[in-house]
Amino acid sequence: MSKPARYAVIGDPVSHSLSPVMHNGWIADHGLNATYEALLLRSDDPVTAIRGLEGFAGANVTVPHKEAAARAATDFTGAVANTLRWERDGRISAFNTDGDGFLDALTEAAPDWRARVSQILILGAGGAARGIAEALEGAGEIVITNRTFARAAELARAVGGRAVEWSALGDAFAEADLIINATTLGLGGSAGPAWPIARVKQGAIVSDIVYRPLETPLLAAARARGLTTMDGLGMLLHQGARAFELWFGVKPDAGKARARLIEALNS
Ligand code: NAP
Repeated sequence: MSKPARYAVIGDPVSHSLSPVMHNGWIADHGLNATYEALLLRSDDPVTAIRGLEGFAGANVTVPHKEAAARAATDFTGAVANTLRWERDGRISAFNTDGDGFLDALTEAAPDWRARVSQILILGAGGAARGIAEALEGAGEIVITNRTFARAAELARAVGGRAVEWSALGDAFAEADLIINATTLGLGGSAGPAWPIARVKQGAIVSDIVYRPLETPLLAAARARGLTTMDGLGMLLHQGARAFELWFGVKPDAGKARARLIEALNS
């Protein structure tokens, strides 16, 4: 058998990543001659470091190297990339599957979301919030709130949305049909603020992209009110599935991967 094709997730830190469990599971499902590893990349010049990687066929890219990955690619015009593919002629192709992965997950959690949503509230203005906001452009009025207001204002400008002060969270929750937590609040089970879930409209959808724990305080409160919820594994799985398809040309089974990731999260 020929040498296995080598794939990785590149980041710093990266040992916590669930991507190896996800992709190695799919590689086994499809009987592919490939390996997938977590690769720590610590460099003052990550663009050159990424260009210098040898022997890889593809990679996912996580914090803090998504901007460097976009710049390391041969012809990519986007600002941020989460997937790389080394072509036979030596070019590096880049893609960003985060936004579409979020939309795939949202469609899985609430197939009729487009009909239900006219106002979208995004909490956060970091890298993940930006990818999601860009993917949701045109799907409704986008409202951004963030602890640092200036970043919310800048992101709102970029996506043709509106920024509101973090102190006005209660009113923002009351007006939204889709609420997305794209901050780190809730990570590791931290309590975070008292989310004003009581003010949310019946019929609204509440999504949290934090997946450690899978049921964040925001999702627990939304579930207790009977709202439609979407957990953070959905986005992880679907951005990964899109990357896998870009590398191998086959659509992997997200459901199988969800079961494996839940097992990994619980172990
Ligand atoms: P990031 O660029 O560092 O942004 C962090 C965001 O969290 C910023 O908006 C920041 O606000 C806000 N924040 C941090 N601490 C806060 C606090 N104490 N109170 C209020 N806001 C606070 O990170 P990111 O890459 O966007 O990731 C955000 C989260 O999403 C992380 O937990 C990450 O693990 C998760 N994520 C999940 C997926 C998935 O597939 N499910 C994908 C990507 C990311 P300031 O601007 O004020 O600092």
